[in-house]
Amino acid sequence: MKFDQSGVKALMDITPRPELVFVRGQGAWLEDHLGKRYLDFVQGWAVNCLGHCPPELTQALNAQSELLVNPSPAFYNTPSMELAKRLTGASCFDRIFFANSGAEANEGAIKLARKWGRVKRNGAYKIITFDHSFHGRTLATMSASGKPGWDTMFAPQVDGFPKAGLNDLDSVRALVDDKTVAIMLEPVQGEGGVIPATREFMQGLRKLADEHGLLLIVDEVQTGMGRTGTLFAYEQTGVTPDIMTLGKGIGAGVPLAALCAREEVCVFAYGDQGGTYNGNPLMTAVGVAVFDTLTAPGFLEAVNARAQQLSEGLLALSAKWGMKGERGTGLLRALILDRDDAVAMVDTARDWTPKGLLLNAPRPSLLRFMPALNVTAEEIDLMLAMLDDVVAKVRA
Ligand SMILES: *Cc1c(COP(=O)(O)O)cnc(C)c1O
Repeated sequence: MKFDQSGVKALMDITPRPELVFVRGQGAWLEDHLGKRYLDFVQGWAVNCLGHCPPELTQALNAQSELLVNPSPAFYNTPSMELAKRLTGASCFDRIFFANSGAEANEGAIKLARKWGRVKRNGAYKIITFDHSFHGRTLATMSASGKPGWDTMFAPQVDGFPKAGLNDLDSVRALVDDKTVAIMLEPVQGEGGVIPATREFMQGLRKLADEHGLLLIVDEVQTGMGRTGTLFAYEQTGVTPDIMTLGKGIGAGVPLAALCAREEVCVFAYGDQGGTYNGNPLMTAVGVAVFDTLTAPGFLEAVNARAQQLSEGLLALSAKWGMKGERGTGLLRALILDRDDAVAMVDTARDWTPKGLLLNAPRPSLLRFMPALNVTAEEIDLMLAMLDDVVAKVRA
């Protein structure tokens, strides 16, 4: 197949892309228009938790597409109720609103917190968020994010997101005033470079929130659905949040996200929240299949075993090449380089022949690994061997 230059010109140019087109995927592997195969440790940015085109996903899509696709969100449908029951049953949350993207789920969380502040906290509306955090690309979620420059890029920004430092409780406390309604964070900052919030910090936030009557919101769009080795990352912190958002892995590749809240917080009145595609049975049927796969006996144990293997392999590689170690939780990990050649490694790994390797560099000196949660031990060993070759070539 030829590379389609006229197709490139027809697309809005929003990011630099390599001159290749992926035409099929299976498990840990992608194949491009020339038939070259790539071992994929990006998996759609931690989205394809069961790999490319897993049978669980295609079967759920096929079966549901022949049954019912869109009755409208103004009516109940079975898959959305089934998935909501599973999520509430497996978490500390009582009610679910389904969305189509992580950003939309976070918008819902922000709206819910502001509504709660209006109803219960005398009009409090500010949500403390964190430097280097990432919550999405809508106007409000960009303002909530702590990426440098994002607050002014599409000025005027959405007001009310003061920024604190992750793992610095005093910096959070210093921002609390009578207009503060919530604290919102990722249990592990993903785009920020795989930086976990410590257990002590999470517990300190919960205590601070309780003292001041604030909501604690966890953005688990990247960390949720088994990515960190438990179904939700907050389970490892010993705290009970008030609101959680899910995205990415919950749909295993199809657009599905969720806003989860405890009963006391569910203050939306009719008309406050909604959306044309929200909770549609085609996507939520996939969500049910994904949930049942992740919670089957042995699945999360295997995630933790693979996580340990990956962690040890990255540490060995780091020691061999004089790098600065690795970090992460579960199968969301990062190799910390000793110099700014992460982008060169990503490019070299992708262009490697005969087989390529897909990696991600969220920072100039950091490589991020987000394989499918059902990645095999052999695939991890192969990735580590390929990466070793790539490092040798880049640093030759
Ligand atoms: C990816 C991500 C989002 C945004 O999700 P979209 O589906 O791209 O809108 C929000 N928060 C976190 C933590 C993410 O990793």
